[in-house]
Amino acid sequence: MKRAEQVTFGGSGLNRAAHIRNDAVALTEARQHPQAACILLWRGKVMVHGDRLDKLSWVTMAHPILKAGYQTAAEEIIFLGFEDDGAPSFALDISGWEPVGQDISTVGGFVDRTEQQHPDCAPGHVFAELRRIMTRLSPRDAELAATAKAVIGWHETHQFCARCGAPSEIVQAGWQRSCDACGAQHFPRTDPVVIMLITHGDSVLMGRSPGWPEGMYSLLAGFVEPGETLEAAVRREVMEEAGVKVGQVDYLSSQPWPFPSSLMFGCAGEALSHEIEIDPIEIEDAIWVTRQDMMRAFAGEHPEILPAREGAIAHFLLENWLADTLD
Ligand SMILES: [Zn+2]
Repeated sequence: MKRAEQVTFGGSGLNRAAHIRNDAVALTEARQHPQAACILLWRGKVMVHGDRLDKLSWVTMAHPILKAGYQTAAEEIIFLGFEDDGAPSFALDISGWEPVGQDISTVGGFVDRTEQQHPDCAPGHVFAELRRIMTRLSPRDAELAATAKAVIGWHETHQFCARCGAPSEIVQAGWQRSCDACGAQHFPRTDPVVIMLITHGDSVLMGRSPGWPEGMYSLLAGFVEPGETLEAAVRREVMEEAGVKVGQVDYLSSQPWPFPSSLMFGCAGEALSHEIEIDPIEIEDAIWVTRQDMMRAFAGEHPEILPAREGAIAHFLLENWLADTLD
């Protein structure tokens, strides 16, 4: 698929310079570089600014917030890479900060429209939920935000060695955890998920999970299981959830999805059967939607189907299906 990397979080070719993660001298040089700067995360949210909150906020390496000592799971600064002009980029989690007198009632929820302003940062530089602003960021800012959020999220849930249970420590500039007790090394986790555009003639298979807002449908998706190829996962998930047999499967596009640690593999699949039999435990409904109806849904004019959520790979795949640009 020619447009594959134009998906939200599709990447920007960031130079991650993995070779310096374990090089103390090079890392110190990077931290002391006059253009070195750091982005900030707080309870999964990223600090952004601008009229539309469409730019990442950066602080210098001398900013007091970096020395404030907020207690977090990822207390070390994480090296993200070098910008195109050579400036080193870092990320720091300050989740231990307690905002006083600010609305945090929906922080951590699926929809969070609140913004938090740290008193040491310039007015208008606020923590915002990434899903809310992801389509407004430049590809570079989106890659940095997704990377930092995924790595920091991993530290939050992987404080202890998975082999022996002892507390592990951060090494490799944030990209690894090491266990002193048993010597095990642990790496940031990425969970593969297939999401599939299953077509039959001029229709696409859409499903909805229990609890979704009325009218919300999306492409079927599911985790890839150990020992399984992407193609097999697509066929199994569609059979399990909708009872539809799938033949040819092709890879289209991938999307890092740091909520918390997925890598979405967008695939196209050809249905060999039309009849739908849902598994009511997995999904609430599945339907075939014609191209014409999907166009109406995208235009917000369909009486029963809401448009897919912008920024998610489902929206991207459907949009390209409608535009006939899947090749
Ligand atoms: Zn261990």
